[in-house]
Amino acid sequence: MAIPTLSGSVELNDETIDAVITEGGAGVYILGPNGVNGGVYVRFVGRSDVNLRARLKQHVGMHSHFVYSYADSPLAAFQAECKLYHHYDPSENVAHPVRPRNVDWKCPRCNLFDVQHRFLGEPVSF
Ligand SMILES: [Zn+2]
Repeated sequence: MAIPTLSGSVELNDETIDAVITEGGAGVYILGPNGVNGGVYVRFVGRSDVNLRARLKQHVGMHSHFVYSYADSPLAAFQAECKLYHHYDPSENVAHPVRPRNVDWKCPRCNLFDVQHRFLGEPVSF
């Protein structure tokens, strides 16, 4: 399963975010120091379901660069974030990507969200 294709690295500040993120809506990103060949050294993977530009601005000052990709839907952003998270195992992501409340989305790479249902479905006998 391929990981999402991301942009080249961009400096992380309000001006560059406004200049580069010209579409509203969902997307995924990676934060970290500027790397070789137009990438970044992966420190943190994130997404926005509604506004990638606003989400990235919340990280200004915490990292020097980012790469990003737009997503066609919140579900697509979630799945892309999961793939990047499992592929890179970023040092600053303290937990698996979360999904919004009231959806039954599954991670494309692990069964984290299946576990609860499995236990609830087990018959208990005494
Ligand atoms: Zn997973």
